[in-house]
Amino acid sequence: MTVPQFCPCARRHTPPITKAETDKHHSPPQSYPTKPGAIRRVDRVCVATHRRIHRLLNLYVRAGGTPPKAVLKGFRPIELELAAYSWANADHTGGRLPYTLADGMAESPPE
Ligand SMILES: [Zn+2]
Repeated sequence: MTVPQFCPCARRHTPPITKAETDKHHSPPQSYPTKPGAIRRVDRVCVATHRRIHRLLNLYVRAGGTPPKAVLKGFRPIELELAAYSWANADHTGGRLPYTLADGMAESPPE
């Protein structure tokens, strides 16, 4: 039996997930302003991947750009792709973009 894939993070999820159990992730996140002409894309991902993408975005904010390779290697291709897309399509002219996970849900912002 072929199990439909509702999240691109892995070939299969264990236990399998249903479409209703996925989140819609916006790239760039809705809290980010977008560059003129940028398209905010929406992808369905499992909840674990959704949170990991937001954690990676926080690391972009902390680094003020693409985090070091040693950090990036801890993330899956879909997480890297969507975070890079968000960063490339966000409007950076107004200063720093916000963290996208609340305190306690990811590494704390720098002091
Ligand atoms: Zn997934």
